[in-house]
Amino acid sequence: MCGIVGYIGKRQCAPILLDGLGRLAYRGYDSAGMAVLTEGKIQVIKAKGRLSVLEERTKNGTTVEGSIGIAHTRWATHGEPSDVNSHPHISQSGKFAVVHNGIIENYRKLRTFLTEKGFTFMSETDTEVFAHLIEYYYNGNLVETMWKVMRKIEGSYALGVLCDDYPDSFLAVRKDSPLIVGIGEGENFIASDVPAILKYTKKVCYLEDNEIVVLKKDNVTVYNADGETIDKEICTINWDVASAEKGGYEHFMFKEIMEQSKALQDTIHPRIKDGEIVLDNIVLTSEYLNSVDKIFIVACGSAYHVGVAGKYVIESLVGKPTEVDLASEFRYRNPIVTDRTLIIIISQSGETADTIAAMREAKRLGGRVISIVNVVGSTIAKESDEVLYTWAGPEIAVATTKAYSTQLACMYLLGIYMSQKLGKLSDAEQKALVAAVKALPEAVEKILSCRENVQFMASRFYNSKNIFFIGRNLDYAVALEGSLKLKEISYIHSEAYAAGELKHGTISLIEDGTLVVAPATGERLFDKMLSNIREVKARGAVVMAIAAEGNTAIAEEADYCLYVPKTHPLLTPSLTVIPMQLFGYYVASIKGCDIDKPRNLAKSVTVE
Ligand code: GLU
Repeated sequence: MCGIVGYIGKRQCAPILLDGLGRLAYRGYDSAGMAVLTEGKIQVIKAKGRLSVLEERTKNGTTVEGSIGIAHTRWATHGEPSDVNSHPHISQSGKFAVVHNGIIENYRKLRTFLTEKGFTFMSETDTEVFAHLIEYYYNGNLVETMWKVMRKIEGSYALGVLCDDYPDSFLAVRKDSPLIVGIGEGENFIASDVPAILKYTKKVCYLEDNEIVVLKKDNVTVYNADGETIDKEICTINWDVASAEKGGYEHFMFKEIMEQSKALQDTIHPRIKDGEIVLDNIVLTSEYLNSVDKIFIVACGSAYHVGVAGKYVIESLVGKPTEVDLASEFRYRNPIVTDRTLIIIISQSGETADTIAAMREAKRLGGRVISIVNVVGSTIAKESDEVLYTWAGPEIAVATTKAYSTQLACMYLLGIYMSQKLGKLSDAEQKALVAAVKALPEAVEKILSCRENVQFMASRFYNSKNIFFIGRNLDYAVALEGSLKLKEISYIHSEAYAAGELKHGTISLIEDGTLVVAPATGERLFDKMLSNIREVKARGAVVMAIAAEGNTAIAEEADYCLYVPKTHPLLTPSLTVIPMQLFGYYVASIKGCDIDKPRNLAKSVTVE
């Protein structure tokens, strides 16, 4: 995520780099830095915190000489936000400087390899591996060296490289992380996104995966994966600077909805090795897991809804009693926690006040805490016994989407990991489940590409006064999230109910034309769900079902049906939630609501 900017030309580069980073600030970041080549030497300035720290230190860049440089805003994934972990990172001899967006999946192996070769690491980042590896393989030809390095690296990267042997060029490359090249007059640029360079040029070329670009001030050479130079199409951007600030999207929430496939891929794929789940920072032995007699999942808001799904998932995969609790309740209700209790704490920011208090209470009582957190180095990440990061990147919209989805993915990873340790699944079951988890990003992408159907439903129902969501089992868990998404941004009153519970009271609120959203992906309870759909229809409800592709029975009962790809029965919430997020978004959009900042709400709830 986050931002890269690079410049080569006749102007002083530091002010341009800082300006570009500022325009990428919407992507969120925790530290910033730049490397500039001046008279054959690389100078690095970097610091944790806001860009203003760098601006003050360099008087808006004016005190840094040089017209070739690379710069970075970091969203930490490996190693907490700190001065040393900030980018750029330099190689052992100082010959190379790199900035990197993405994650190097095999960095531990490479770090060990390089340490054995005598390299000393200054930071905790995965990125530093890149700098030393380039130095290790360097043969005087930077492009050739990069091919070698790229063959060794597994993971995602947009990378900018400065080398003091090349005083009139710099290099960049990408794989699974965005990077564009901006073509100017006597000056050229790289950037993670168009807004960074729009002020200077509207001519852009989009790098493909595994393409290397060498930038000089008067020309740009792109090499393909076979090492041949290629002609790239140059596109002219017709945005103005302001329209591009959200990467062209009208709202951060929509942008983040659309980023979910990538966020899931970043969260899931590095943790699957040879059909097994490997969680680098988590060491739960079989012996310890056998001793556990109770699991709690504790969280607030949407993270709590992840917990509700998590209860079903963990109980079915791990076979241990699992209770899900709201952090604000857990902390004050004298929960029964012993040294045989495992507590899973979920928080996007890692700073949610109630969740922090619940975590501390669980630890005080002797429980072991694993947290699922998005922000590296946050309070919960630091204080929990172990942390499993969601690699969703910064989430800016108040209503969570990609953080929810990646938290859910972490719950699956953790559940499978624990069942592996306990030998709960047969080889065939394990294989099928892991393959299905791996396929989630693609399935999500497919649903996102059919979003017009949801938009149509929103245009039909945006005037509703009350909307109910009903589901059973995992469909109930996701109904809770669908309902919250809708009410928090569209201000339509909405409630989610376990479908079998509605008739015990709430069904009295159903009247002619009331919309009932009915996720019905669970096969085992499908017939029961059909009965519940009939019950509300008999009282005048209009039913919008969400079902797996190929389910024709549902179309006969529901008034409308949205379809999602078929997946493993435990994974359906990851898919069913997508049309629900889109529904909430489109309804709020038609109503003209302030989607990214709904009234009365804050992103990171740091008060009790
Ligand atoms: N994985 C790298 C780090 O933690 C890069 C993070 C980013 O994309 O900003 O430093």
